[in-house]
Amino acid sequence: MKVAWDGAELAFRLDPEDEITGRAADEHPVKLRTSTCAFGGVPDDAHPDLFAVAAWSVVAPWTRRRITFDRPVSAEVAQALHDGWGIEAGPVGGPPRTQGRTLAISYSGGADSVAAAAIFPEAPFVHFRRVPHPRVPNRWTHYRSDVLADLAKKTGRELTTVTSDLEFTLAEPRPGYPEHHAVAAGALLLADRMDLGGLAFGYELGSRWLGGDRYLLRFTPDNPMWAPHGAWGRLFAAAGVPIVLPVGGVSEAVTMRLALGSPLRAQVRWCLQGADGPCRTCGKCFYKEIIQAAVERRPLDTPLTADRAVVRKWLRKPPYGGMEMIEYGLARIPGVESSILAGALDYFDATEESTSWLEHCYPPALAEIPEPWREPASAFMAENAGLMTPGEARRVEEWGS
Ligand SMILES: [Zn+2]
Repeated sequence: MKVAWDGAELAFRLDPEDEITGRAADEHPVKLRTSTCAFGGVPDDAHPDLFAVAAWSVVAPWTRRRITFDRPVSAEVAQALHDGWGIEAGPVGGPPRTQGRTLAISYSGGADSVAAAAIFPEAPFVHFRRVPHPRVPNRWTHYRSDVLADLAKKTGRELTTVTSDLEFTLAEPRPGYPEHHAVAAGALLLADRMDLGGLAFGYELGSRWLGGDRYLLRFTPDNPMWAPHGAWGRLFAAAGVPIVLPVGGVSEAVTMRLALGSPLRAQVRWCLQGADGPCRTCGKCFYKEIIQAAVERRPLDTPLTADRAVVRKWLRKPPYGGMEMIEYGLARIPGVESSILAGALDYFDATEESTSWLEHCYPPALAEIPEPWREPASAFMAENAGLMTPGEARRVEEWGS
């Protein structure tokens, strides 16, 4: 793979051994659509390692053996690419980037990133906003990135919005991040200007420790995407921007509770489709409604019916990513046995006691937060969620086994 930057425009060219259909770090197959993308709202004079890691977050799935950058990277970043992916990276030369002092939050506006923001009330936000690609038709026009960007502005936080069309580099499964870390490409390019020493993401317990989302569905202490000692964790650290997961030890029930109790409550939005408010009918709206109803101890409030595909998805036989929250909802939503979620009761024997671990923080998640942010995050969790007992922590560690 050869990558070249023209200002904040990235162009890449595959080497003969590279593949059009590659795999992201979570093993999900992703097919290349186009080999250019551009960023707005970022400087063009960042440290070469920042350009390199930003580019890698886009091209990693399709790169097999080597990557050639258009400017020398530090030996540290080259080593991290070699250790993490078996990739030969070059040219190598120049000092590594000096870690800054500021923690920024990669802010989507969803409950998880709002919860992360609540832990660090002074941290500036970097918001990724999708914009159209000049040469790729947008088949996903219902994604209202403009609405999410406006909500981010209304938080009153120091905010930098990065625009990019990088999601259109993907042909399949749909426009999206080639690697989950591509959401941070703009934040990386801003790291020198913002004096960043860490970047916080709203990835919670399911994503970090339970192999959730489209991943392994089992306990993953060595998660290659989010563990500090994983391939991506080491690469970000080599560029002086270690990954910080303030809510990595708590479930989506806790992040929902924290988000709804935070000063940013009015700006929380997980739905990517609604304009004046959440659409209430997409899969994400329904899933989050289950969690919110459980947290608020009220009946489900949804216009959906049990025959809809977005509902049936949560009525199928486990295992699947997010099943811990379905179990949590079954144990806590009043009247669930006569709701559209009733079919899921066939697969779970959920009680409040059997799901109590989902209300507390998994202590090893705090231990891996880098200083100086570990202490405030730990204090916040002790006060606002409480730590898991050894028995509850075992539920995490035996997940999927
Ligand atoms: Zn929705």
